[in-house]
Amino acid sequence: MHITEHILTNSDCYKAGRTIKPKGIMVHSTGVAQPDVNVFLKAWDKPGVNACVHAFVHRGGVTETLPWNWRGWHAGGAANNTHISFEILEPAGHTYKGGTMIGYDPVKNGPYFQQVYNTAVELCAYLCEIYGLDPERDIIDHAEGCKLGLASNHSDVGQWFPKHGKSMDTLRADVKARLKGVNRR
Ligand SMILES: [Zn+2]
Repeated sequence: MHITEHILTNSDCYKAGRTIKPKGIMVHSTGVAQPDVNVFLKAWDKPGVNACVHAFVHRGGVTETLPWNWRGWHAGGAANNTHISFEILEPAGHTYKGGTMIGYDPVKNGPYFQQVYNTAVELCAYLCEIYGLDPERDIIDHAEGCKLGLASNHSDVGQWFPKHGKSMDTLRADVKARLKGVNRR
């Protein structure tokens, strides 16, 4: 897993300078068909933007955009005080209606998904090791955060993962296996 550091030092979130003691990881996807991480880095690295995550997961690997112990603006709820967050970039070609993907082609996007899913698993395992997190207990997505009362009402990543036979349960199991040394490549 390749982590590139590109801290969003011009964002209001970064400048707020609040830190957290990470107690979990919240997984997001961007909700837009835009696989180019530079578009997000440009759009978010300026004042007046109301969102900031700790990292983006994309085809080129991981781009870290806040120090892991910074307080991010990703959940729209209390998870901002406890959770490290990352956005997985979605491939090009689909649109959205409400929280549902329209015109998404799982066959064409299969290799893309497998790559970013694997990178997300690796990043979660890396963060679990650093912060002593339990993958089964401490990793949730935005939608699960909402059900727990920790985040705003978004559908990510449950609107996307099942199109490829994956879910937060498979992700948690894959992270756990990786931490145990199974599945190491
Ligand atoms: Zn989200």
